[in-house]
This record gives sequence, C-alpha cells and structure tokens, in this order.
Amino acid sequence: MPSKSYDVVIAGGGLAGLYAALSLDKELSCAILVKDELFTCNSSLAQGGIAAVIRPADNTEKHLEDTLRAAKGLANEEHVRLMVENGPSEIKNLADLGVSFDTGPGGDFYTTREGGHTEKRVLHCGGDATGAHMIQTLIRKVQAKTNVDILEDRFLLDVLTNSDKQACGVLLLHDEPEVLFTPHVIVATGGIGQVYQNTTNQPGITGDGIAAAIRAGAKTRHMEFVQFHPTAFFDAAKGKTAFLISEAVRGEGGILRNHQGEAFMEKHHPMKDLAPRDIVSQAIAREMQNAGVPHVFLDITSHSRDFLSKRFPTIFGNCRDHGIDMSEQHVPVAPSQHYIMGGIHTDSFGRSTTEGLYVCGEAACTGVHGANRLASNSLLECLVFSRRCADLINKGTFHRHSDEALPANDDKPGFKGDIMAIRMQIKSLMQTHGGIVKNEKGLQQAIADIKKHTARLERAGLTTRTEAETYNMGLIALEVLIAALKRKESVGAHYRT
Ligand SMILES: Cc1cc2nc3c(=O)[nH]c(=O)nc-3n(C[C@H](O)[C@H](O)[C@H](O)COP(=O)(O)OP(=O)(O)OC[C@H]3O[C@@H](n4cnc5c(N)ncnc54)[C@H](O)[C@@H]3O)c2cc1C
Repeated sequence: MPSKSYDVVIAGGGLAGLYAALSLDKELSCAILVKDELFTCNSSLAQGGIAAVIRPADNTEKHLEDTLRAAKGLANEEHVRLMVENGPSEIKNLADLGVSFDTGPGGDFYTTREGGHTEKRVLHCGGDATGAHMIQTLIRKVQAKTNVDILEDRFLLDVLTNSDKQACGVLLLHDEPEVLFTPHVIVATGGIGQVYQNTTNQPGITGDGIAAAIRAGAKTRHMEFVQFHPTAFFDAAKGKTAFLISEAVRGEGGILRNHQGEAFMEKHHPMKDLAPRDIVSQAIAREMQNAGVPHVFLDITSHSRDFLSKRFPTIFGNCRDHGIDMSEQHVPVAPSQHYIMGGIHTDSFGRSTTEGLYVCGEAACTGVHGANRLASNSLLECLVFSRRCADLINKGTFHRHSDEALPANDDKPGFKGDIMAIRMQIKSLMQTHGGIVKNEKGLQQAIADIKKHTARLERAGLTTRTEAETYNMGLIALEVLIAALKRKESVGAHYRT
C-alpha cells in the first residue's frame, strides 16, 4: 500500500481545515486531504456572515450572554469566552490575509444584526457570499505555502492508531487505498447533513470524520442537538428541499401558510412568523405531520415583482428557475437539516480523547453552542479553535513511531446489495424519527432498523467510497438517535413529545 509521512495531516479543507493549515509553522510538513474539490465545502455556502465584536457600542460580555442564552444552559462558558474574546483579532487576521469584508460609507466594517444577537455584530463579504469569499482567499494562501500538500479527491476512510491507542496516521481512498503516517491528525470534515433527506449541506457532508474518530476511540458529545433551518425551498419533482429561503423573507412580511391557506404561526408563538428558528421549524413540522404533506407555503405576494427581484435577487432567481414567481405564487417550503451542535468532544485546543487526534470546526463539540447555535457563531468557532489547535501542535514534540498500525487485509466477501437503497432508508428514517419532533417509540424503531443496515455492511466489508459513506451515515444516525433517546427532556434544538 503506498504511504507517505507528514508532521500533520488535516482531513477537511473547509474554513477549519484551511485555517489550521495556515496557522501551522512553516517548518512542519502538512497534508490537507479533501473528498472532492477544495472549494466544495459547507464553508463556501455560508451566506449570513461571521459574528464578532467590532463596534464600540458592543462588547464581548454581550456576545457571551447572547451565545449562552441561545445554548439554553448547556454551553461551556469558558470556551464561549475564549471564542468571543478572540473574535476581533481573528477578523483582523482574516482581513490581513486578504478577506474583503463589506464596509460602510466611512470605511468601517459593515455589521448587521441577526436573530438572537442583541447587537449588530455580523460581518459579511459580497453581500450574501461571505463563505465563498473567505474560502477563495484562504485557498490562495494555502496554495502558496510550500510546506502544505493539497490532496483533492481523497476520501478519509479511517484514523489509524498504534498499540498505545495514539493516532498515528490516516487510511484514505483515492484510486487505491493509501496511508499517510503522522503523529498529528486533525479531523475537520464538517457536519452530518446528508444523514437527513432534507439538508442545506453539500452532498459530501456525510459525517465521515466524526465516524472515523469514533472508530479511533474518540468520544462524542451533544449529538442529539441538530439544528434545522425552517424554510428551504421544497422541490416537488425531487421530493426534497433544494436551497435556503433566508429568514429575511419573513422579515419583509412573508407569511407561512398551510395547504388550506391558513396563516398558522399565530397559533404557535406571539412573534408569529418571526418566532425563533426552532419554534418555527417545530410548528411547520407539526402542520406537515397533521396534514400528511411534505411542505407548507411561504406567502410573500404582498410585495411586487420589482421589489422582490431587487431585495432577494438570488432567492427570486432560484425560485423562478424552479417555476415559481414569488410575487404571484406561494413558495413551497420545508425545514431542512442545517447544522449539528454536537460532534467529537474536544478541549479548547481541539484535543479529542484519543491522543494525537484533534478535531476542529463543525465536526467538533467544543461546547460553545450547547443546545442551540447562535447565528453566525460557527464560522467564528472554526477560526478560534483551529488556530488554538495549530498553536499547540507548533509547540509540540514529534517522536511517535508510527508505522506499526497498517490496516490488516480482511477477507470479507464484499457488499452485494443495493447500497443506494440502504442510504435512502437511513435518510428517510432520520427524517421521520430523528428530525425536528422526536418520540421514544420512533427513536427506538429507527435505531433497530439502522442497526440492521450497519451490521449487514460490517459483515460484508466496505470497498467503495459509497459503501464507506453509507456505513458512516448509519453510524452517525445511530449516534444522534441514541443520544436523543437518552435525553428525555426537550431543550433547545432537541424536541421530544
Ligand atoms: C447553506 C449554509 C449556510 C450557512 N451559513 C452560515 C453563516 O452565515 N454563518 C455561520 O457562522 N455559519 C453558517 N453555516 C454553517 C457553517 O458554514 C459551517 O458550520 C462551517 O462552514 C463548517 O466548516 P468546517 O470547516 O468545519 O467544515 P466544511 O466547510 O463543511 O468542510 C468540510 C471539509 O471536509 C471534507 N471532507 C468531508 N468528509 C471527508 C472525507 N471522508 N475525506 C476527506 N475529506 C472530507 C470536505 O471535502 C470539506 O473540505 C452555514 C451552513 C450552510 C450549509
């Protein structure tokens, strides 16, 4: 099996992975491996922006309080403090690297206020293209580094461990399996969106890194806390959601209606359509369940075509491409998995419970989001904790002997069934039983069904990327469902009936 050695191997090239690579000493050899192309990650999709205290009227105590309030008492306050206090310097560093944040008339950074924030502190780039701008800039910077090899189209299969249970390399799949030996593995593979039928996440976000870290002995935390965005466009032809319809549409007077045309949010919350995200998602889920339909509608026909096409050019264009004129027709919408607050449990330097295995970004549970994420804090978390992880590695020692953990050849028969059918069943079970509204019976049923699939795949052995992904999706689904079954009370994004 081909192999190579590096000081550090980073699985994942979104904001967390790229920023970790940029923060490593230039003397350290490093490989970044990504599943598809480097630009294809959730970070490039981020629209709203990144939260940080920039304006004199704001302060880090307020950002801390807003974050803790959203987290419903389940955040790690020390880590939240680290995040908000490091926010301004990380923004400055990004600007120094060439990220061009939008500015106001006086040249100051332009900030907006998002749901849950008591101050204007969300910075953005190119209007609603924040993530794309950041990632493009950081890719250029990483490409210029001579100590970093960028390995595209490489699938992380497993994190290797030695006889002392320390991480000592990664097994990856390109055309053939390959091994990269290293004393420092950073998993930055993002969230789990594709485990659900409806998700705003990229197609490659299947929770592989979290699953590989679990197999290497790392512990997970808060996997039951999955955030859903209330309104994604529902594409009837495909039977699933397609793209996000920003909260700003409801901010401009958009009203959610059921199939009878009733405005139902007034039954659920005094703030009606502008209630918090989890309340709106739960209300929509109930309407859909009661009527046995896959979506509700968003009505913004109170505005003219001219207004809507100027105020929401991207959304208006996307709707039009799907045959809907927002000024005349109600837009079909459904909630969509968006983010996971949980992940691999780490300390404030990204260290997991497996020595030598670090986790950053959405794959990690640093504890800063608790039971619910405050809008625009996730990009900030990526920056603060991946830099701390790199700083720790920069100071570290590099003595571990590593080539003792080559994976053994197994003689399993190989999978013979319809792998895509298994994948669809996992997604469907998660949508029905592991989604916005959960109950004990449904959770138990889904656990039993998914366990059958994972056991079957284990017996067969996995040889292709699709098989490995599907197996990982099964493992991640079980983590979410089992954690949800254990937490009996409803809190934050976790709602049980
Ligand atoms: C539509 C959308 C809008 C959002 N808007 C915002 C926002 O405005 N503000 C905000 O703070 N947050 C936002 N978020 C959340 C935020 O974008 C993510 O939480 C964050 O970008 C995650 O970054 P990451 O580096 O951890 O992972 P990602 O950016 O998702 O990167 C994951 C990387 O891992 C790689 N990878 C995955 N599996 C494997 C494997 N098996 N082998 C090799 N490589 C692998 C992928 O190729 C990719 O390079 C949004 C999310 C979405 C989906």
